Amino acid sequence: VAKRTQRHLVRYQPAFEREVTERLDLDQALRRALARQEFRVAYQPVCDLKTGLPVGAEALVRWERPGVGLVSPAQFIGVAEDNGLIRPLGEWVLREACRQAGLWRASGLGLLSVAVNVSPVQLADPGFTGAVEAALTDFALPPRALSLEVTEQVAVTDLREAGQRLSALRGLGVRISLDDFGTGQSSLAVLRHLPIDTLKLDQSFVRDVPGEPAAQAVISALLTLTAGLGLHVVAEGVETQAHREALLGLGGGAAQGYAFSPPLPPDAFQRWWLAQMD
Ligand code: C2E
Ligand code: CA
Ligand code: CA
Ligand code: CA
Repeated sequence: VAKRTQRHLVRYQPAFEREVTERLDLDQALRRALARQEFRVAYQPVCDLKTGLPVGAEALVRWERPGVGLVSPAQFIGVAEDNGLIRPLGEWVLREACRQAGLWRASGLGLLSVAVNVSPVQLADPGFTGAVEAALTDFALPPRALSLEVTEQVAVTDLREAGQRLSALRGLGVRISLDDFGTGQSSLAVLRHLPIDTLKLDQSFVRDVPGEPAAQAVISALLTLTAGLGLHVVAEGVETQAHREALLGLGGGAAQGYAFSPPLPPDAFQRWWLAQMD
């Protein structure tokens, strides 16, 4: 038994150390990546469920890591939040998305709005509102054309404070979206107390329609609730035609997902958009 325990320890130790080392490597590599301009922004269309026509785009960060390839944000946003790099990285994404949206609008693309994800770490930064204002001014983007996506994570420590920060941002004229709705705990309190324009229904709901009556009932009730609150809705993760038709049957709104388009690099996004408008 002693021998087996020992062997277990011997195997466990290096694995743990490897994990720590990998995280330190990632920390260093992310810092270098920002300086070396290895980040990109992909744009995923947001479409009207009924017409299928695009109405906006969500900006999603990508890391082109040399020798590795495209790294998913799921693998580095958490580390960037822990080491604070999310502040400069998030500001870079914000400015890049505003720059691109400004170019598209000026070229007559008809892009109604661009959505940018905002980490709770960024929202807690007193300089964030100023950075948003500067990005809008610098790229001549009308505030209405920018939507900031936050999750209910922003409200875990202090719902009131989060409400005040979001109200200040909304005072600039930008819109606020509540992302991943339905995945957390306190969703209804958050809905009542945060100044929100749009609710993004998490893909975990969408995945099970049609077919699962409970999922349909939840979505249907949420659509009634959001209509009552005067909120817009975007369904996430609409992957198939069946998802799309089921959502349309439940009341519609806007949607995002592979049924319309995956996130695309800017040039491909522009080609896709123009093809839809033909
Ligand atoms: P999110 O904000 O919920 O973004 C939607 C995610 O769903 C994206 O993953 C998108 O590629 C993916 N997706 C789109 N359509 C479909 C579909 O039909 N089916 C499925 N299964 N997935 C779909 P992505 O780009 O890997 O981003 C993952 C998460 O990373 C985002 O989730 C967001 O929370 C975070 N993220 C991405 N960019 C940024 C950023 O610039 N700042 C911050 N703070 N977070 C970001
Ligand atoms: Ca989002
Ligand atoms: Ca989401
Ligand atoms: Ca998410």
